Amino acid sequence: MTGRRIFVTTALPYANAPFHIGHIMEYTQADIWVRYQRMRGNTVYFVCADDAHGAPIMLKAEDEGITPQELVARVAATRPAYLDGFHIRFDHWHTTDSPENTFLAQDIYRKLKAAGFIEQRTIEQFFDPVKQMFLPDRYIKGECPRCGAADQYGDNCEACGAVYAPTDLKHPKSALSGATPVLKASEHFFFRLSDPRCVAFLREWTGDDRLQPQIANKANEWLGAGGDGLADWDISRDAPYFGIPIPDAPGKYFYVWLDAPIGYLASLKAHCAKQGIDMAALLADPATEQVHFIGKDIVYFHCLFWPALLHFAGTPYRTPDRVYVHGFVTVGGEKMSKSRGTGISPLRYLELGMNPDWLRYYLAAKMNAAVEDVDFTGEDFIARVNSDLVGKYVNIVSRCAGFLTKRFDGRLTHDFGADGLRLLDTLREAQTDIGLAFDGREFSRALREIMALADRVNEYVNANAPWVLAKEAGREADLQRVCSVAITAFAELSRMLAPVIPGTIAKVEALLGVSFASWDLSLAIERINPYAHLMTRIEEQQVGALFELPAAAPPPPSSPQRHAQHQQKTEDKMQTASQWEPFISIDDFSKVDLRIVRIANAEHVAGADKLLKLTLDLGTETRTVFAGIKSAYDPATLVGRLTVMVANLAPRKMKFGLSEGMVLAASDPDGQTSGLFLLSPDSGAQPGMRVK
Ligand SMILES: [Zn+2]
Repeated sequence: MTGRRIFVTTALPYANAPFHIGHIMEYTQADIWVRYQRMRGNTVYFVCADDAHGAPIMLKAEDEGITPQELVARVAATRPAYLDGFHIRFDHWHTTDSPENTFLAQDIYRKLKAAGFIEQRTIEQFFDPVKQMFLPDRYIKGECPRCGAADQYGDNCEACGAVYAPTDLKHPKSALSGATPVLKASEHFFFRLSDPRCVAFLREWTGDDRLQPQIANKANEWLGAGGDGLADWDISRDAPYFGIPIPDAPGKYFYVWLDAPIGYLASLKAHCAKQGIDMAALLADPATEQVHFIGKDIVYFHCLFWPALLHFAGTPYRTPDRVYVHGFVTVGGEKMSKSRGTGISPLRYLELGMNPDWLRYYLAAKMNAAVEDVDFTGEDFIARVNSDLVGKYVNIVSRCAGFLTKRFDGRLTHDFGADGLRLLDTLREAQTDIGLAFDGREFSRALREIMALADRVNEYVNANAPWVLAKEAGREADLQRVCSVAITAFAELSRMLAPVIPGTIAKVEALLGVSFASWDLSLAIERINPYAHLMTRIEEQQVGALFELPAAAPPPPSSPQRHAQHQQKTEDKMQTASQWEPFISIDDFSKVDLRIVRIANAEHVAGADKLLKLTLDLGTETRTVFAGIKSAYDPATLVGRLTVMVANLAPRKMKFGLSEGMVLAASDPDGQTSGLFLLSPDSGAQPGMRVK
């Protein structure tokens, strides 16, 4: 074997939510590229992993009363449905919360430290005195120091776009507890990106042709004209933190962004162990290539931090040979924000029974090697798939297969005639250029050329009109020849489409009794099996359903569906215009059984940060309810007071016991910034009274 040996990764998805369409786009891009490389006889190690660490996962798990590991495992369990569903075939899927990643992160850190790239410094940061933890920027809110907009995050203002340090915010509040944060000093560990050795290395590394031109330019901008553009990188976080412990530094953890890309290597390590491959030797071999597919939002990490870490950690680590950056998916020209989810749910797509190859084909038809966004519009999607895949490609076999089956027992002749040979030669010659297009991630060009060839094949079929030949006496040989040329040409097209539409191609392989595993080997089709439908057309209603919003009762504010709803209209101004829930009827409202209750008892719950356990007296019975109001109320002050509960909310099993309803409280949209306020009825109301 003399082929290339390539270690390929896609960006690690954060393990606090299911995949969105952006993930599917990136994985599809990489999967097409990998399938093509394999058809060329190259050896590929194609791996990914869940990015499991960090404050958001720790806090979300805490909110739900589960461990971060449980949260990550729950999200990881959702992955196969998407990956299998869209024919995305990683060799291995791992997690950064793994022994391999702990070993590698600590190993890389030790080597960097020995080489003099780690520095300890005391810094001051906002600390939440209630939660007893340092606050990440995103968990601090306050007024923008520039425009005064309220309720802005600690790192940038969504109203005026200003970027600042959390300490610049006016009236800062912890988004976790509502408390005013205090400045507190702590020892942090820094990776010395500003070290002249780093700058010199990065200047050389980013100057080679490893990066797309616009990415290389961006990296150069960051490096600064004098090489003084880089700030040292804070790679540590204080406990409590869900992450990998820093060796010899109790209570200190690696910042999630340090161990996330090391997860590529951890996944490779786990895969190699399964396969009996020596990973260190594989990486150290100069013939191995290391290729990362990423989105344009994480270029800084992958084109500065990551190569510098790897380079100065030394053997067996290698710096990336290529970083392939893509744009985002937009829908109807509108930007989608990663933190808010997406407009098209990939799972809904699959649940609607839509063909995964349609989406793969459509995305590929819009992808190239540039850092450009891929815009999805329903009409364009329908038009491309129906006219290209069904109207041009499948059309060839659906028009010719029947004659061979009915008249020749499915047998093909290899006597193609002069014009047939010419056509097949044209196809085979074009294959070289189409291969280059796949290798260079110019998928849109590859598909354009393939469809131009499909046009040629259809012209041949039209010119030779097998349906006319079939009716004329003594034209059997011509009929068999024309249909054999068409089916052989169809096979050549199928092979070129194999990286893009693998589900369909598996059916074609069964139909023609051939394998498209190789890009080069000549195809000899002897016999065609009875033709069954390869692919249906997309119906307009299907795409309509894809975008349709769930009509059910609005989910709670933090649920992913709610984010998806908002995603449909990503513009902030539109969100403001739709700040109310959709209209409901009076009948909908009457379904909610609201009752006055007396709080008979209130107590702390061992192990719960946010919850109080309430015993509620409804007059005729008592209920136990766990309410997330601990930050706002001392239990002793609650006993005896009246409030309002939802009495017919389905009981919910929580870690601490069964919660049999819900009490009502007012809060800011995020439920945290300004505190929580329980509702109270006017005096005279009695436990058990209905509220309407
Ligand atoms: Zn502002």
